[in-house]
Amino acid sequence: MSLDNSWFTEPVDQTGTAFSLKLGERVHAEQTPYQKIEIYRTETFGYLMTIDGCTMVSTRDNFLYHEMMSHPMLNSHPSPRDVVVVGGGDCGTLREVLKHPEVQRAVQVEIDERVTRLSEQYFPELCVANGDPRATLFFGDGIAWMKEVAPESLDLIIIDSTDPVGPAEGLFGRKFYVDCLKALRPGGMLVQQSESPLLHLELIAEMHHFMRDAGFAQTRMLHFPQPIYPSGWWSASVAQKTAGPLAQRLDEAAIAALGTKFYNVETHHAAFALPNFVKQALAL
Ligand code: SAM
Repeated sequence: MSLDNSWFTEPVDQTGTAFSLKLGERVHAEQTPYQKIEIYRTETFGYLMTIDGCTMVSTRDNFLYHEMMSHPMLNSHPSPRDVVVVGGGDCGTLREVLKHPEVQRAVQVEIDERVTRLSEQYFPELCVANGDPRATLFFGDGIAWMKEVAPESLDLIIIDSTDPVGPAEGLFGRKFYVDCLKALRPGGMLVQQSESPLLHLELIAEMHHFMRDAGFAQTRMLHFPQPIYPSGWWSASVAQKTAGPLAQRLDEAAIAALGTKFYNVETHHAAFALPNFVKQALAL
């Protein structure tokens, strides 16, 4: 069945899959120095932002991704004071990070300022924490930023980037992970959006290899639903500077205070429960 132009469709040739949303209309399009950004008003998912034709964020389901890219690892660190979000220009991950009172400083390093300015216009609910005194919005390349940041100055690095192509490609490589390792304090961790466990398992295995080869002591993967991304099943890969069990700061009252829609103690544990084929592929 071919869809007419009253639908947005993201076809992915490499995986032979596609995702569609019934439209309203395209309300904005622009070519920035880095990428093409489009905003659609959809019939059932609110606004949709795409970058170079790939789905990025929708009003309806972004809570799944932003909550699971932040809370599991913030609550797995004993004292996450200094956090950086690389990418994340829609500001949804930053908003979740700043819900944690232990966080003293959160820097968002986004290469394309237009992503944030358009998010302020179409996804203002994701930008409500941008004025938090602990927050810094830095517009520049995360690869260059990580080279320059003071050694052992970070507790958690969250890499909320586009797919490993274009400006994001270098964020998935060994050299970048070496710089991340240097920037982290002992006990520090990195968590990176790592695509679909069903469609991209080879890429995820390669990421874990590069992380370990860069000197990280241990890697893990967590997973969660994310309907607008290919296959609807997404992952984040974790690299620990120091091997060992994760802290389990899972106080029910503190988690309830986060006001999350998906994240809770049960989904925290479920996210780390891996299927056999993933454990085998990642040697976890
Ligand atoms: N949730 C989305 C996903 O999983 O595809 C990512 C959301 S966020 C919009 C991705 C951001 O990464 C984009 O705004 C893009 O500009 C940014 N980005 C890509 N490469 C970057 C780099 N080298 N440094 C900083 N930001 C980068």
